[in-house]
Amino acid sequence: MKILVVDDSSTMRRIITNSLKTMGQETVVEAGDGIEGLAQLKANADVGLILTDWNMPNMNGLEFLTKVRETNKDVPIVMITTEAEKQNVVTAIKAGANNYIVKPFTPDVLQEKLNPFIV
Ligand SMILES: [Mg+2]
Repeated sequence: MKILVVDDSSTMRRIITNSLKTMGQETVVEAGDGIEGLAQLKANADVGLILTDWNMPNMNGLEFLTKVRETNKDVPIVMITTEAEKQNVVTAIKAGANNYIVKPFTPDVLQEKLNPFIV
């Protein structure tokens, strides 16, 4: 299953990608903001799960999520927020996010949150 990881922090992308590999998910594509995320989706129509950060330059996670949902209602999207942004979760769910993860998180939490969407 191909997973798209969108985060402006390359360190965070590496942490997430490594956790996904531990979970047996080796096929990961990355993007540094929402604009790159949309481009990656266009180039990889077989993406089956999206993890996106909220706070990013150029196009943030909510804008990205909203844009994706204009054309794709099906692909599961899991939002990554910080503790401080937790109030944004309701907004994200209303905009079509399937779930959310609060930073910082352990690999176990990541696995638990993503398991329902991994086939
Ligand atoms: Mg960020």
